[in-house]
Amino acid sequence: MREKALLFALLFAFFQGNRGMCQSVPGEFEEDVEAITEEAPPEIDPGDHIEEVPLDTLTADEARGLLKMREEEKLARDVYLKLHELWEIPIFRSIASSEERHMAAVKGLLDAYGLDDPVKSKAVGEFSDPEFTKLHDELIKRGKKSLLDALIVGATIEELDIRDLNELLLKTDKADISRVYENLRRGSINHLRSFVERIGEAGGEYRAQFLKEAELDSLLKAFSGRGKGR
Ligand code: ZN
Ligand code: ZN
Repeated sequence: MREKALLFALLFAFFQGNRGMCQSVPGEFEEDVEAITEEAPPEIDPGDHIEEVPLDTLTADEARGLLKMREEEKLARDVYLKLHELWEIPIFRSIASSEERHMAAVKGLLDAYGLDDPVKSKAVGEFSDPEFTKLHDELIKRGKKSLLDALIVGATIEELDIRDLNELLLKTDKADISRVYENLRRGSINHLRSFVERIGEAGGEYRAQFLKEAELDSLLKAFSGRGKGR
């Protein structure tokens, strides 16, 4: 009898402890998100002379590009968080964290150039541009079908990012903007490689949807070092 009581006490303590742990996870992540968003510096080298970057000379294309990329990085983060919830494989969680850093890098540029942040809410799936809301919902719908579909959704988002960054890089001559875009592009290529590898392991094959097939092939081959990107 006494043993039984002790067992109950232990079990009770265990579940309490466990519940505490589970409850702290979302809170911790939120804090983490806050910290990354607030602390990530705009990607400007200390050696740069900030006063040499005239704050009022963004072209309409450059401004549009920054606003778009801020939400496109959020699209990636939000979809991966949701897919992580659904499939619980580490790739979505770790790449979502990387997208959080990409969002912060673009936010640094929005701040530097005095643009209003289109990300009004940190809530998953909410966007200022209704096109992103639509795309988010479509991608989640596909990602729910199977793990292979979810991985293809990941590669799709990364390929879209690379295509858009390629275009935006041609439309800017600002060194700070180009540097951030180059970093995001490098990260996206690493993410794309990771997703395409997993797709292969899951018995699928990824075909180019936004880039030319040859460009996709060369991106996948050119980066031989495995990495999760930045
Ligand atoms: Zn990204
Ligand atoms: Zn990415």
